[in-house]
Amino acid sequence: MKLNVLLLPGDGIGVEVTREAEKVLKHVTSAYGHELAVHQGLLGGIAIHKAGNPFPDETRKLALEADATLMGAVGLPEFDNAPPEKRPERGLLGIRQTLQVYANLRPVRSYKALIDSSPLKNELVDGTDMIIVRELTGGIYYGTPRGISGSGAEERAVNTMTYTRAEIERVSHMAFQLARKRKKKVTSVDKSNVLENSQLWRRVVVEVAGQYSDVALEHILVDNCAMQLVLNPRRFDVVLTENMFGDILSDEGAVLAGSIGMLPSASIGNRRPSGAWTGLYEPVHGSAPDIAGQNKANPLGAIGSVAAMLEYSFGLMEEAAAVNHAMETVLNSGKVTADLKPPGAPAATSEVGDAVCAAIAKAATV
Ligand code: NAD
Repeated sequence: MKLNVLLLPGDGIGVEVTREAEKVLKHVTSAYGHELAVHQGLLGGIAIHKAGNPFPDETRKLALEADATLMGAVGLPEFDNAPPEKRPERGLLGIRQTLQVYANLRPVRSYKALIDSSPLKNELVDGTDMIIVRELTGGIYYGTPRGISGSGAEERAVNTMTYTRAEIERVSHMAFQLARKRKKKVTSVDKSNVLENSQLWRRVVVEVAGQYSDVALEHILVDNCAMQLVLNPRRFDVVLTENMFGDILSDEGAVLAGSIGMLPSASIGNRRPSGAWTGLYEPVHGSAPDIAGQNKANPLGAIGSVAAMLEYSFGLMEEAAAVNHAMETVLNSGKVTADLKPPGAPAATSEVGDAVCAAIAKAATV
């Protein structure tokens, strides 16, 4: 197969972790005899510096041409006080909307080797295996009117949480279809006791559920969900929620996985004529300015995103499994970065990437 992949390293540790993810992608595609073409583009703070825009036209063009896009992270402290349209994060929203990737899939699972890294009690976390399906191109991050106006005591800020029935339907179908391949349970998260937006959300999810009689549906309010995620994470299978709630809840999920550096994500749009999904793949974490440039970021979230890309955009299940298996081998070996609190000296970002490649190679020769 020929894979045409766009790489957008972005800022801070985004550059370091995508370097390792690219290494693994090259390694696995070559081990399985595929042809890989990788292009690089600018996104975020580096794009503001080099092209005056967090999401340059050239990047838009490259993303539309690629089969799949692998991103690092964006964000530089120097832009913290810049207006929203001049911030690196605007690039992120731009590319998600350009590709119309409306469902963000965030698997959260506890790895045996990392169970002690979670601040939660082992018996609570052990066996956690859920996937958070977050709506990604609608809701309060995109709704209008938005902005800040007026001055003095009358200065006022507005954001708008808005969803159409069609937007809720398509992401709900995605969640139910995923649940069918898992434990057949969808938990829909909303705030329908307060928000009209959530009332429509709940009504439409119930209607869609009617087409999936083999999947159980439950509803939970977002505040209770935040509590249940740390009290009883094993109760969840597929968690379906809107954009902002999903953003917040999936970071909470990071605590269950041991470190935010572990979490991959796949943002999926419509199916292409080939049957593959349009996809944007990225670790859940940000650019981590506090550890950037030190070769100590955990690259496994980015490498797990490569596995997701192989599975969803290219349908290469065996290759995806090889990457996931190699990651587990490396975790079990203890060669992990400082965030996972290894018993011995922590490994560098690049050492973890090398170890994953070596584990893939070893498995291929057995
Ligand atoms: P962050 O995820 O960058 O960092 C939070 C904490 O987790 C930090 O202590 C960091 O060192 C640690 N961490 C994150 N990833 C790690 C990894 N791979 N290995 C080891 N430790 C890791 O979140 P933040 O500090 O809130 O945000 C920093 C910048 O990133 C901001 O500019 C923010 O807007 C941006 N951001 C971007 C994205 C994205 O590009 N998708 C997501 C979140 C935040």
